[in-house]
Amino acid sequence: MTEKKTGAGHRLDAVVAAAQQSRAQREQGYREQALKLYPWICGRCSREFTRANLHELTVHHRDHNHDHNPPDGSNWELLCLYCHDNEHARYLDAPSGTSTDSSRDGQQVSHKALSGLADLLNKKDG
Ligand SMILES: [Zn+2]
Ligand SMILES: [Zn+2]
Repeated sequence: MTEKKTGAGHRLDAVVAAAQQSRAQREQGYREQALKLYPWICGRCSREFTRANLHELTVHHRDHNHDHNPPDGSNWELLCLYCHDNEHARYLDAPSGTSTDSSRDGQQVSHKALSGLADLLNKKDG
């Protein structure tokens, strides 16, 4: 006698499942592309990865926008789980210290911050 309930629940489940699946497929898609484009090395601690521990290597979005996935991989960076955590913690910390600046300059500041990050990465590499 619970047909009505399960009917509605099933429909909602299907929608949720479909949304989760497309999200998973999208993430799977850019992860695979990033792993093809870049060597399996953490961009921060230079830890090397193999197929055995590849699940600990994650794809970080440089601009923190997971919907921004240029095919040339310019928004991706391969980071191990730990460095990826650090990266996000640092990003979250930053705005609180510079809130007065960012409210004044808006977009300009975030653009400057991103190019600064790129400089930092380049310096580390070279
Ligand atoms: Zn690392
Ligand atoms: Zn990330």
